Amino acid sequence: METVILRVTDGSSDEEQRALQKAADCIRGSGLVAFPTETVYGLGGNAFDAEAAKKIYAAKGRPSDNPLIVHIAEPEEMDRYCYTNPLSARLAEAFWPGPMTMILPKRDCIPGSVTGGLDTVAIRLPSDPVANRLIRMAGVPVAAPSANRSGRPSPTTAEHVVEDLQGRIDMILAGNPCRIGVESSVIAVEQDHVTVLRPGAVTCEALRQLLGEDRVSVDRIVTEKVTGAFKPRSPGMKYRHYAPKAPVLLLEGEENTVVSYLKKKLPDPEAGLLVYDEDLDELAGERTLSFGKRLDPDAQAHRLFFCLRKFDSMEEVRTIYARTPRREGIGLAVYNRLAKAAGFHILKF
Ligand code: AMP
Ligand code: MG
Repeated sequence: METVILRVTDGSSDEEQRALQKAADCIRGSGLVAFPTETVYGLGGNAFDAEAAKKIYAAKGRPSDNPLIVHIAEPEEMDRYCYTNPLSARLAEAFWPGPMTMILPKRDCIPGSVTGGLDTVAIRLPSDPVANRLIRMAGVPVAAPSANRSGRPSPTTAEHVVEDLQGRIDMILAGNPCRIGVESSVIAVEQDHVTVLRPGAVTCEALRQLLGEDRVSVDRIVTEKVTGAFKPRSPGMKYRHYAPKAPVLLLEGEENTVVSYLKKKLPDPEAGLLVYDEDLDELAGERTLSFGKRLDPDAQAHRLFFCLRKFDSMEEVRTIYARTPRREGIGLAVYNRLAKAAGFHILKF
């Protein structure tokens, strides 16, 4: 299949409006369009259309029990696709448009093929202007997982999407690199309690500040390896996502000990080093990448997947030795993605 690539920035010029119109028509006609959002690039299809959902799973090579997030353009739309409650309304008011996905009981108009057979649906209203305009123009809710091949790190630039999906989808809206860089926070919303199933830029701290300490919990799958019979509430979290080709080993412990361990690995041609900016004086090298300052989790989130993909392109690298980010704020999301890429292999000093 030939993939049409159209450049966009924010979708406001006449030319970009025409590009968005083509993309919206494509989605309404059962086609697939990759587009930028503030979190990562998404691969969108009409959420009412079971055929489009099938195509998404096929293009990504994604297991069909891993449900898709349904994207909307106006908060008022939410009621049409799921059963809302006062808590979900409050969360929408506080964090939408933005990087938060809510899980709620689904209405019949959303096919089971979109929700992996579950009776709940994941809904998000993105803030990115291209995403927002595209969904509005499509006039239908847009089911969109991340626009990567299953098992690869999520795409944060248009080039990543081209790398993974060119020839497999109808269209790519090639915009700017994603502002945040890790996927949305996924939270299950009950009558008076929320559970964070996947951490993201809408942080646990922000949720607790809004709702109170005792009304927010974090699912164990965020920080623990789960195996065997454990059935996660968020099916996608059980897969070894975000997997770079070389396995990751997380290093945790006293600063000097971690740095001297990394120093010993520096000359090893099979070792990739994922470090902080501050480490570069001592640890700079051909296979060393920095993902931001030690105390700057926003930068780490922004660069993480870019770095993992960069290691993928270094043929000789067999193991990636990575600094363990602090688990505060969006740092919990960075930790979660890295720990998952590492299969929760953490070397503690
Ligand atoms: P992605 O589309 O790659 O951002 O992944 C979507 C994430 O949302 C996966 O981790 C899914 O398991 C999760 N998700 C989507 N729908 C549901 C749902 N109905 N219940 C629980 N988790 C969901
Ligand atoms: Mg994904």
